[in-house]
Amino acid sequence: MPSPTSARAHIIPVFLPMAGCSYRCIYCDQHTITTTQQPLLPAALAEHVAAYTATRKSAPDEPLPLVAFYGGSFAQLPLCVIEQWIHAVAALEYSGKIGGFVCSARPDGWRAEIFELLRRATCQRVELGIQSTNQDILQRAGRPPITNSEIRTLLNTLREHGISPGVQLMFGLPGENRHTWQATMQDTLAWQPDTLRLYPALVLAGTLLEAMWRQGNYQPPTLTEAVNACADAFVQCTEYGITVLRAGLQDSTTLRQQIVAGPWHPAFGELIRSECYRRQLLALPPTVTAIAVHPHEISALIGHGKSNSDLLTGLRVERDQTVVRGKILWRQELSRTTL
Ligand code: SF4
Repeated sequence: MPSPTSARAHIIPVFLPMAGCSYRCIYCDQHTITTTQQPLLPAALAEHVAAYTATRKSAPDEPLPLVAFYGGSFAQLPLCVIEQWIHAVAALEYSGKIGGFVCSARPDGWRAEIFELLRRATCQRVELGIQSTNQDILQRAGRPPITNSEIRTLLNTLREHGISPGVQLMFGLPGENRHTWQATMQDTLAWQPDTLRLYPALVLAGTLLEAMWRQGNYQPPTLTEAVNACADAFVQCTEYGITVLRAGLQDSTTLRQQIVAGPWHPAFGELIRSECYRRQLLALPPTVTAIAVHPHEISALIGHGKSNSDLLTGLRVERDQTVVRGKILWRQELSRTTL
């Protein structure tokens, strides 16, 4: 089952760039992606959370925020370091400042005792950076081999320990094509994770991927290819009830300065959601004159840069809280409202 609380809660990121990584994937530079040169220490967590919450007013029914350990592989940190973070989190949880924590981790190198440690610490979600289920792509990306059944076992073990399992995938690594991506998506849907994050492969300065690209040994996907592939994934996740937490990297000046090639767009996630609505609008029967979408989806329906406005001409649009986000509901009898 999806974990609505952890998926809805506001996130307070704590970036630990490359911490817990025993290898470096060819595309990765977490110092650039997270714009963090000097990672936070456990002793500074309370101050970090206070600074974050002071700048933000939460809605009355909003769950307590969650601390998120991103940018490295939390579950593969030394046990004593994990325990220090868990103690810092527990103190903030006890005083009602946060509702717990989530983390990202690589899928290999898990020690048996970590599951119990995370369970006792009320870890709410672990997002596994899978990237692809194609062994050739993983090998070329500098990642160790891991089988589907090992990943399935890992996701199930997390679930058994009361931890919501999430998956992160990357489209467009060396060796990727439409078939490998579709196979990765089919494998992911079969695992039924609660959440998914989608990233396009970007060529960052100083990475091995940059060297491959400069030598002509790698051609990143175009923006259109990346949007289409991620929109396919988004549609499938909506069908399977998997929450897509994010598509594309967080924009920042540091990141922009380091991207040398690849399907970059500051509003990548918005492009994908617009594309998903465009596909549904194109598939509407010609007799349909009224549709309904969730009230928060109106701008995605209209599209990035009003890209879907041509398909909305003559259609009446109703805002309906009951419509699943990402979907269009159409009935001939929908009441008349305007955008
Ligand atoms: S992609 Fe993940 S596992 Fe690979 S180097 Fe980056 S943070 Fe570490």
